[in-house]
Amino acid sequence: MTVAERLSAARAEIDQACRAVGRSPDEVRLLPVTKTVPVDRIREAVAAGVTTFGENRVQEALAKSAELPGVRWSMIGTLQSNKIAPLIRFADELQSLDGVRLAIELDRRLQAAGRPLDVYLQVNVSGEPQKHGVSPAQVETVARELRSCTALRPLGLMTVAVRSAAEDQVAACFQTLARLRDRLRELDDRWSGLSMGMSGDFRLAIRHGATVVRLGRAIFGERFDLDRRPLGRPQAGQ
Ligand SMILES: *Cc1c(COP(=O)(O)O)cnc(C)c1O
Repeated sequence: MTVAERLSAARAEIDQACRAVGRSPDEVRLLPVTKTVPVDRIREAVAAGVTTFGENRVQEALAKSAELPGVRWSMIGTLQSNKIAPLIRFADELQSLDGVRLAIELDRRLQAAGRPLDVYLQVNVSGEPQKHGVSPAQVETVARELRSCTALRPLGLMTVAVRSAAEDQVAACFQTLARLRDRLRELDDRWSGLSMGMSGDFRLAIRHGATVVRLGRAIFGERFDLDRRPLGRPQAGQ
């Protein structure tokens, strides 16, 4: 299947998942994730109408942004503080905001650059030690602290669910995030979004209220390791 065909298939599945629970498909944004995907493949998605892509690594996204003018970038991977400066040169959104210190430093640099940034607060709902994000117990406190970071525009919460074959465990992650969002929204209605659901679990995430689904493999096919790129598709800029 081509990228365009995969995009239509994913959109059809999103529509179907929405209708199954009485939601409008307009409520769910499909964010194609392009980590390790070469620029020529991304261009196919641009040609099919995609305007915003998700990326994990700042350096990789920065290199791609130079080759794809007019594209918007949403960063979804852990952000080291030494990558803030390059990030604010090209990124439109950060979904992996995971602490107050990072928020304060980001806000300071954004104020200096005279620009805002859309953010989602990443929550580690499964509590797995290798996962990033604030703990569910910290969410409200962090959200209150973010009020003084006026260059950051909160859009909602983001999570990566536990990887499990047991659907009820994955669903529990999505339910937890939705409940946290509901509580936060009572304090400040800007916290309305739920970025949850990837290629393996986006239908379930939509059932539990996802407003953004982040799809990599479903759109671009299986990933290859960075040092084992598919032959004949050299990565531009490397
Ligand atoms: C890679 C990645 C995705 C996309 O994963 P797929 O399984 O390829 O859909 C979504 N979210 C985050 C945070 C990722 O790192």
